[in-house]
Amino acid sequence: MQEKGNISIHTENIFPIIKKFLYSDNEIFLRELVSNAVDAVQKIKRLAALGQYNGSIGEPLVQVAFDKEKKTITISDNGIGMTAEEIKKYINQIAFSGAEEFVEKFKDAKDANELIGKFGLGFYSAFMVADQVEIQTLSYQDGAEPAHWICDGSTEFEITEGTRTTRGTEIILHINADSEEFLDEYKLQGILDKYCRFLPIPIKFGTKKEYAPADTEEEKADDEKTPKEIEVDNIINNTTPIWTKTPTDLKDEDYLAFYRELYPMSEEPLFWIHLNVDYPFNLTGVLYFPKVKNDFELQRNKIKLFSRQVFITDEVKDIVPEFLMLLHGVIDSPDIPLNVSRSFLQADSNVKKINSYITRKVADKLAELFKNDRKSYEEKWSDIGLFVKYGMISEEKFYDKAKDFALLTNTKKELSTLSEYKTKVETVQTDKDGALVYLYTNDPDKQDTFIQSANRKGYDVLLMNSPIDNHFVNILERKLDKTKLKRVDADVIDKLIIKDEKIESVLTEEQSDKVKGIFEKAINRATMKVEVEGLSPDELPVTVTMDEFMRRMKDMAAMGGGGMSFYGNIPDSYKVAINANNKLIGRILSAGTEQEQTRLAKQAFDLALLSQGMLTGADLTEFVNRSIELI
Ligand code: ADP
Repeated sequence: MQEKGNISIHTENIFPIIKKFLYSDNEIFLRELVSNAVDAVQKIKRLAALGQYNGSIGEPLVQVAFDKEKKTITISDNGIGMTAEEIKKYINQIAFSGAEEFVEKFKDAKDANELIGKFGLGFYSAFMVADQVEIQTLSYQDGAEPAHWICDGSTEFEITEGTRTTRGTEIILHINADSEEFLDEYKLQGILDKYCRFLPIPIKFGTKKEYAPADTEEEKADDEKTPKEIEVDNIINNTTPIWTKTPTDLKDEDYLAFYRELYPMSEEPLFWIHLNVDYPFNLTGVLYFPKVKNDFELQRNKIKLFSRQVFITDEVKDIVPEFLMLLHGVIDSPDIPLNVSRSFLQADSNVKKINSYITRKVADKLAELFKNDRKSYEEKWSDIGLFVKYGMISEEKFYDKAKDFALLTNTKKELSTLSEYKTKVETVQTDKDGALVYLYTNDPDKQDTFIQSANRKGYDVLLMNSPIDNHFVNILERKLDKTKLKRVDADVIDKLIIKDEKIESVLTEEQSDKVKGIFEKAINRATMKVEVEGLSPDELPVTVTMDEFMRRMKDMAAMGGGGMSFYGNIPDSYKVAINANNKLIGRILSAGTEQEQTRLAKQAFDLALLSQGMLTGADLTEFVNRSIELI
């Protein structure tokens, strides 16, 4: 038997094109060939299970070996094999309607995955690294003859009688000069680890020879001349990774062990979620909540996407909601279209469903942890808070669930849910118009004076000092009914929450104007607007504040977000509140000379700046000198 023929495509030679365009991804040839081999083994198992094959299936096995001298890489399996007819049918007819279509489409293909999937070119990816490919195969069918196929990467092939004596297929790649890097144990091991680590059929790599230990003295003497070699079993994959198992069969240790297997250098995760759904789409996986470190970027892209246990990518951006990109773990779904462009992926209805399924599962898991063991949930809050807040900000549906288990932390480190917090502060922190005012600090050290003033009034102060809190404050204000959030230094305490009772000023209008004049002269800065107000006598004589709204605008402009670049250079603008009822103001007013008045006013103003960490440079030096003089 010998037959020559043409692979049915119309272009003279598409392989140079494939090679050229897929060069950067060329390592995936191994993934494609090994998964074909795995499929072939699974098919024979299935046929046996269905009673359509009565022979022995033996130990299912795929082997990958290489020979540096002969420059070959061989992928073999004991799967169903192929007859010569089947080779002609499956290998020789590339699954696309015409070369024109191919040439038209490959121009826009972003990567090899896209091309291979679209055109069923899995097998032909071999030509990215080989200039000649051979198939030696024997079909499982009764009376089948072994077949040998050889092709040099042109459209011509040759089929002859093969030499294989056992069922299965061997693909022999004669590696081309540009791809000799693949004839290396570590290189191949690395690729297999990446793509084939969790394939469902055992994969043996190389035929590592080791020397058998000598049993007797005689053997020992013999070994010195010709040591006895044995093959060691080096199965490189875990055929039943935990995501393929039923959650009820797994213990915590199993999940932790798997996590260590995936991320050997990482700290233990906080908890995990086992995903398992088969309708309306098929998806399994395990997602872990890591301990969050500050270096968010390094921790992203830690979710691995598989399709039937074949690794595809760790770019899951469009499949996993953005706010969950910090999670670790695996997702396996044959229903995610892998061979399409990103924009198509985003619009895909399965992908949308998967996205909201994952969001819901994460929310449910958090709700369950909160409900079942609040104490341990609170202990983990500093780590999970970031995800929860991020999720509440970015996904409406997540907010609706998370509002019941999101926690607010105050400066005393007490944690409360949104509704608990409302109950806690509403009697004291409702203003004259019936609006609730939540106070917060983003820097408890710097704003300590304000926090203490607030506490003296019986007000609570929330801690909002993580980078995401800026946005979290905004979303809370938008979502919570009749509630305002104000940073504790946004005004003097008596004005932060305006109540009905009015504190009278001890100064006459005339005296107030005079005080204002003294301070304006002493401060003399365009960015500082002086106001004399009747405040509680025990509040500081001078307080420097920035209005909540102004400050948020500035914060937003500084972050460059929210379309605020227009406000790029919002000038600083502060209010200097002079407490007419503080004794010191009376003293300044009655000081002997104008010079003395200015000096005292400057001192009081500098003290205000000092308490907020705003006194620096030459101003600080002047303050120190003036203080020495005053002493
Ligand atoms: P796909 O795997 O997407 O169908 P391929 O080009 O990778 O495309 O393979 C084409 C066909 O060749 C497979 O569907 C299968 O029928 C056959 N085939 C490839 N490799 C093997 C193998 N190792 N054993 C048996 N059949 C194989």
